[in-house]
Amino acid sequence: MNTTATGFIKELGYPGNDPKSLLPKNLVDYQNSALADEKQQHFEFKINQHTFDCELLWHANAKQWNINMVNISSRKLEEQKRDSQAQINPDTGLDNHYVFKQVIEQMVDQRLTFTVGQIEIRSYSKLLADNDFETSRKVMKELSDLLQGTCVEKHQNVRLFQLTEKSFGLVFQKSNCHATVKQIVATINNQVKNQLFSGQHSVKLDYGFTSFPSDGKSADEIIRNTRIALENSASQEFTDYMMFSNELGKSVERQNSLQDAMRSAIVDNHFQLFFQPQYSLKEKRIIGAEVLIRWQLNEQWISPSEFIPLAEHSGLILPLGDWILTSVCQKAQHIVAMGFEDIVIAVNISPKQFSAPNFVKMVKRALLSSGLAAKNLELEITEGVLFTKEADTINTLNQLNQMGIKLAIDDFGTGYSSLSYLQVFPVTKLKIDQSFVRNMHLNKADKSIVRSVIELGNELGVTLIAEGVEESEQVDLLTQMGCDEIQGYWLSKPLDESYFSHFLHSNKLLS
Ligand code: C2E
Ligand code: CA
Ligand code: CA
Repeated sequence: MNTTATGFIKELGYPGNDPKSLLPKNLVDYQNSALADEKQQHFEFKINQHTFDCELLWHANAKQWNINMVNISSRKLEEQKRDSQAQINPDTGLDNHYVFKQVIEQMVDQRLTFTVGQIEIRSYSKLLADNDFETSRKVMKELSDLLQGTCVEKHQNVRLFQLTEKSFGLVFQKSNCHATVKQIVATINNQVKNQLFSGQHSVKLDYGFTSFPSDGKSADEIIRNTRIALENSASQEFTDYMMFSNELGKSVERQNSLQDAMRSAIVDNHFQLFFQPQYSLKEKRIIGAEVLIRWQLNEQWISPSEFIPLAEHSGLILPLGDWILTSVCQKAQHIVAMGFEDIVIAVNISPKQFSAPNFVKMVKRALLSSGLAAKNLELEITEGVLFTKEADTINTLNQLNQMGIKLAIDDFGTGYSSLSYLQVFPVTKLKIDQSFVRNMHLNKADKSIVRSVIELGNELGVTLIAEGVEESEQVDLLTQMGCDEIQGYWLSKPLDESYFSHFLHSNKLLS
């Protein structure tokens, strides 16, 4: 017996100095099991507030028991603390996602009518990137206090949880929930609007809500659908909050199945590339084409306006974009080799693809492997791309420009009102958006917008192309206004490779 044990016997106030007084009452049960299993026994037992780890070993030769006891009370306390933290967020003191789920499970079991909400800070990752972790924690703590004040104290039956480092959960019992949801969101937003968190940060929140029993059968389904509503609200800039609905569920289901199908279609090479010719009003000849992706799934054409944003959102745009660029360069090189040395083939580049760190390398690889000259390639990007990580963007654009690749701004006029960026970025072409062209021959305002964009482009020395040109009146007006090029159904719909090749040959003969 060591001195710790002697001291401990004294501390407990046990009479004498007998180590047996420390042994558990049911020691014999453990001894029997140790003998039956022919191996050492490990167990824990308590003396008052203290927990011991006990090791029992039977030495058959010496016919004696070796008993080792270690006081593990402090480790146990730590474990208990950790367990309780597993229920409560240490910063905000709010119950966490385990409890959130338990509470919902219980309410589902009791068949209560209730509403579940999830609240999340928009651009939390930016907050984290721009500040130290302490600041972000402080913001969350202040927001949690605000939410407790607005949701819990004002709406007595609302229960608040902290689900993740950037999101909170709400549960409340109510049958007519829509009005309450609206009221809760308005109250919170009013307060949030007037507060600078951690002394300097303004915060924007996204909200998603579901109701039981209408929006899900189980706690898991309710939580998942709340998340879907939240994400949908977050993806819409001007939507305050979103209630889950069957239509929303169906649309997310379609998006998920499209994403799965897209994954297989990339591997199985099921996408096609079409070419929409572009015509120079000044040179009166076909100068190139824009490549547009096409996808047929179960004998139905899926619009790129539907699947490209999904690919962008899921990251699938990276492998898809690589495939597009590589294939376009190969096809363009075929066309050049047919004798169209000056043709310029434009490819749409989505924002995620453009900002991928290996984008320039990828473009170089596509050119090299196909043998296409850089002057035959044009990249179309949207204005939004120019304003994310500006320094990196300028760097990428300069590298592409130095290689001799042309750069066009797609959907020009729909994005930003500041045009000073055109002096900073090496842009070679502006594509006047179809929405202005569509009614320019009918509507005065559209006509003057098109005219000012053309004047601006001419002043800056960039080429102008009007998109979505369908009518000859539009062609006449654009010619008068000094527009360089046109693209649209008036000239041709997007064509598959062989039709495009015919189109080029027949137009070569005409010009
Ligand atoms: P966008 O780049 O603005 O492409 C022009 C869209 O207008 C195309 O639709 C084209 O078919 C259509 N269009 C062309 N001429 C006319 C016309 O005279 N009238 C009308 N009403 N429409 C016309 P599409 O092919 O459905 O593509 C939609 C969008 O999908 C594209 O808009 C582009 O943002 C994206 N997209 C298409 N292909 C690709 C691609 O290969 N890569 C990426 N990243 N995005 C693509
Ligand atoms: Ca385009
Ligand atoms: Ca466009």
